[in-house]
Amino acid sequence: MAQHPITKAIRIQTDRTNEMENSTPLFLTSSFCFDNAEEMRAAFADESNDNIYSRFSNPNVQEFTDKMVSLEGAEAGFSTSSGMSAVFGSFMALLKKGDHLLSCNSIFGSTHTVIKKYLPGFGIDYTYVSASANIEEWEAAITPNTKMIYLETPTNPGLDILDLDALGKLARKRKIILNVDNCFATPVGQRPIDFGADLVVHSATKWLDGQGRVMGGVVVGRKDLIHDIYLFCRSTGPSLSPFNAWVLSKSLETLDVRMERHAKNALLIARQLEGHPKLSMVRYPFLESHPQFEIAKRQMTSGGGIVCFELKEGLEAGRNFLDALQMLTLTANLGDTRSIASHPASTTHAKLTVEERQMVNITPGLIRISVGLEHYEDILADIMQALEKC
Ligand SMILES: *Cc1c(COP(=O)(O)O)cnc(C)c1O
Repeated sequence: MAQHPITKAIRIQTDRTNEMENSTPLFLTSSFCFDNAEEMRAAFADESNDNIYSRFSNPNVQEFTDKMVSLEGAEAGFSTSSGMSAVFGSFMALLKKGDHLLSCNSIFGSTHTVIKKYLPGFGIDYTYVSASANIEEWEAAITPNTKMIYLETPTNPGLDILDLDALGKLARKRKIILNVDNCFATPVGQRPIDFGADLVVHSATKWLDGQGRVMGGVVVGRKDLIHDIYLFCRSTGPSLSPFNAWVLSKSLETLDVRMERHAKNALLIARQLEGHPKLSMVRYPFLESHPQFEIAKRQMTSGGGIVCFELKEGLEAGRNFLDALQMLTLTANLGDTRSIASHPASTTHAKLTVEERQMVNITPGLIRISVGLEHYEDILADIMQALEKC
């Protein structure tokens, strides 16, 4: 009987050893042994699936990957040391000199750096469209050399929603690889492959770990593309550590219940903040006032754990708000059991010019809350008292 992906995220497990352990042991080993020369030859010739070396594969890493493949409805996957090595690996394995990458300017800061600063050095050109572009504008930006469309939805930190169904159909029609960063929604909130994505990348560091402990990343999707990414990564070395994979695999067992509570808290808080006199905007994908609410409802089963709002008074008010918080943590991470507040204009996006920030909807008073698993009344009370003081 075919099991639900949420069951598989709990039940997929590395074969039991002779010790008959219940929980998967930690395979802290850099290499694996062979009984004889013939078995070793066959492994190196790809005639068997035997592990050779942990840069290529490791049982803990495979267990985490298999769970992610199941959750995303993918054919195959490869796990990496961070979200950025998953993004970079998916670019470098599949794009070559002369190729063109089409993306959206509302993407994670380091991804932006990779595309703008490093890809051109390899002869890979790019075009950005805005998060509000319609499908005709996306199509108009395609060139004969466009090999990949890369996007995030919801976007970080502005929570814009891009239409996965329309973009999936466009990519299919023009025979372009659609690569989606699904970090914000997680596979229990949105499955881009169901809408035509060929690849899905994740920062496992965020909601997948969900407890602020380890770095990790993963790419899942079409088998042929994943094989190319595997070959690139196996030679260049951004492999996931077995320890981190062991932690992350355990984390996936609670992903669905955690995200359910994160999303419930986030929606309650967003609703309470709407209309607050100090705020000019509150944004959450499942708020009826979200400009792309209809698209969000169509492609997401949960609004996720991030809420954004805009302080009318701007930059200084943003800094004062952070200083007035008593419980929420000021830290660069997101997707933790603990609620986190950030002010992009003075931190993550401070290096951009005012115009560049404007282009990606990062206004001076924008605050991003990663809603944790504390009781929602405590999270809300801390936000409300800090709003009084800024
Ligand atoms: C954090 C993040 C990344 C990068 O992941 P790391 O694990 O920090 O390398 C990529 N995309 C999004 C949307 C992120 O939030």
